[in-house]
Amino acid sequence: MEKLKFRLRDIPDSGLDLSVELPRELLASALEGIEGADLDATTGRVEGQATRIRDNVFVRGKLLGVATVACARCLEPARVNLATKLDLTLMPEAEGAPDPDADELATSDAEFATYEGDVIDLTELVRELCVLAIPMAPVCREDCPGLPIPPEVAAAEGALEKASPLAALKSLKVPETP
Ligand SMILES: [Zn+2]
Repeated sequence: MEKLKFRLRDIPDSGLDLSVELPRELLASALEGIEGADLDATTGRVEGQATRIRDNVFVRGKLLGVATVACARCLEPARVNLATKLDLTLMPEAEGAPDPDADELATSDAEFATYEGDVIDLTELVRELCVLAIPMAPVCREDCPGLPIPPEVAAAEGALEKASPLAALKSLKVPETP
């Protein structure tokens, strides 16, 4: 089931259905390096359609799903909605002169990409959309108060405040240089 990868000639005049659950490898790769990412609690799917006009391929639809990552404040699981509009125009990889229509096309909201040969592979584009849908600092809820301060830390901070700054400096251990 490689619906995200198809050939130009596979697109019928009526359009090619792209509705597909995202493969686990794709989600895994999108979550790579993200704090607290939980692949088992992450789902994603694409609902859309590819159509073509000559060599240009238009992908319209949406990315849907939920990713589970760590809340940037309290580190508990945060569920991130991946919902993103899909509006892509893919053109054959240009060789030579720039497309005279390029300026006109650039005024549209759609994003542009190219494809090589007659194979259109949306895997990387969809992966990027998943990555972009996950904020830099995801939160489990808008008003997440963050980590509660453990009593011993609060007490230590209180003690430090009372001590003079110089006293605090003295307690710092300077590593000996060899
Ligand atoms: Zn939180």
